[in-house]
Amino acid sequence: MSTHSLHFFDRVDTALHDETLRTALNRATARFVGNRSGAIGALSDADTLRDQARAIRAHALSRLDELLVRLAERVEARGGRVCWASDGEEARRYIAELARSRGVRSIVKSKSMASEEIHLNEALERAGVEVVETDLGEYIIQIAGETPSHIIAPAIHKTREQISALFEQHLGMPPTTEVPPMIRAARQALRQRFLRADMGISGVNFGIADEGAVVIVENEGNARLTTSVPRIHVAIMGIERIVERLEDLGVMLQVLARSATGQKLSVYTSIISGPARPGEADGPEEFHLVLLDNGRSQILGGQYAEALMCIRCGACLNACPVYQSIGGHAYGGVYSGPIGAILTPLLQPDLPDNYLLPYASSLCGACQEVCPVRIAIPDLLLRLRADAVRAGKFHPIEKPAIQSYAAMMNNPALYRVGGKFARLGTRLLRRKGRIRRLPPPLHLWTRGRDFPALPAQTFSEWWEERERQRHNG
Ligand code: SF4
Repeated sequence: MSTHSLHFFDRVDTALHDETLRTALNRATARFVGNRSGAIGALSDADTLRDQARAIRAHALSRLDELLVRLAERVEARGGRVCWASDGEEARRYIAELARSRGVRSIVKSKSMASEEIHLNEALERAGVEVVETDLGEYIIQIAGETPSHIIAPAIHKTREQISALFEQHLGMPPTTEVPPMIRAARQALRQRFLRADMGISGVNFGIADEGAVVIVENEGNARLTTSVPRIHVAIMGIERIVERLEDLGVMLQVLARSATGQKLSVYTSIISGPARPGEADGPEEFHLVLLDNGRSQILGGQYAEALMCIRCGACLNACPVYQSIGGHAYGGVYSGPIGAILTPLLQPDLPDNYLLPYASSLCGACQEVCPVRIAIPDLLLRLRADAVRAGKFHPIEKPAIQSYAAMMNNPALYRVGGKFARLGTRLLRRKGRIRRLPPPLHLWTRGRDFPALPAQTFSEWWEERERQRHNG
């Protein structure tokens, strides 16, 4: 069932009660966390590398305008075409018009979160073009009619059993829980699509300004086929995904692969610098680079600019206890997890309940701890919360509740009386030592977890009693 039309709280509620989702998330995030920690732990200079990665990204963002112009000029000098898309609409129009003017009937795509962000597939399908995702995870969710729930593992929310059922239905594969036959079945189905596609659409991990080139990393080889077999290659790049020099990749590729999947390097790294040149056997006849702004230049220079350093490794999602419990779909936007809770309100301000996303965090700091470019995620989440409050976006009960709490904490007598009432209340609600449901409006707290019953004796009472006993004897 699609949960995207539901309110954030209801999406969270649905996710928390989905046992299969919890199983899939627990398995996958535990594996990612373990792999990352092994790969980063194996480096003697991990901290230096992360500092360097941050410096490279900060440098690129501080000169973004100049680097983008350099990238575009060099791409064009090599025979590529560049589209400066200020928003999703412009990007979709450019690609749809390109497909129409070149008689494109069939498109293969490799993984691109930017294309998800602008809902490109739907636009192309409306224009009568067949679009097939070729990354295995993306392919699974495409045939399931769903959206990605993780930046690097789009089908992380699915168990093997669910994928087997999908392949049985769509590819006629006998049921199995073994991964290799599933991969073989998908590969067989996709091979034909590559061969008949007129256009390949890819994302971009990094643009290199000096080289006029784009870098795509992957593990399956599908991006290589997408960018070299069809006669037209369109690469979609968020404008912030740039570095200045080829040497910068030495740092960025290491931290990306280790943080994302725990690999030393991804299996395939392609550096693409335009269409095939005369005499070259491989490569497309046309290369188009779509530079997607879509709200990014508004973020640049403001208090959230640091979020643009993100290299979409997904490590903060895997480390986040909230993401581990609710998965990606509950966030409602294209980007999920801690960085999604920042990017979605900034890039998709039209989503009505996205001001709630920054609250989907315990502020434990696990995200910042694993982020390869050390983005101060908890800090940014707090600033977004403050913005929401300033904009008057809060529950009417919050203000009087916090005022009462502040008054109580500033007045010892009130604190004692309040404590007594709270303890009495929890005693009445307690069943077998737990409170399963608080009365409204506090019931939201107990939708997905128990509330701890307050102890019969406060710390001060315990202390006073202890002192009394000591003095008496
Ligand atoms: S915020 Fe950091 S950890 Fe999260 S996806 Fe981006 S780079 Fe990775």
